Amino acid sequence: MVKIDWYGNEGRCYPLPGTVKKAVCGVCSTPMNVARSVLRTTSLVEALDGGSHRCDAFTCPNLQKGWHKRIYDLKMDVYKAEISGAVDYWKKKAAAGKEIKKILKKYAVR
Ligand SMILES: [Zn+2]
Repeated sequence: MVKIDWYGNEGRCYPLPGTVKKAVCGVCSTPMNVARSVLRTTSLVEALDGGSHRCDAFTCPNLQKGWHKRIYDLKMDVYKAEISGAVDYWKKKAAAGKEIKKILKKYAVR
């Protein structure tokens, strides 16, 4: 059974060095690659400030794939419907869930 993590990460995350041992992708549940203790900018505020800091960079190996982006877009649509209190939220979520499961079954290695 395919389970959808509606509030998971988008296929990347940047925790402080050493705080997270391993992480799985919130989109496709694949274990993410990690680059330890890299210097980077992780927020818009930091970017505007010209700053950066050390973190562990986790990224999903499927991040750049079209189907991966499609799942992320579907999840964002559902999320936007939820926070805006859209009347068709449940309908949207059901339809998106169906499509996401189909995509995961076809592409994601489990
Ligand atoms: Zn992924």
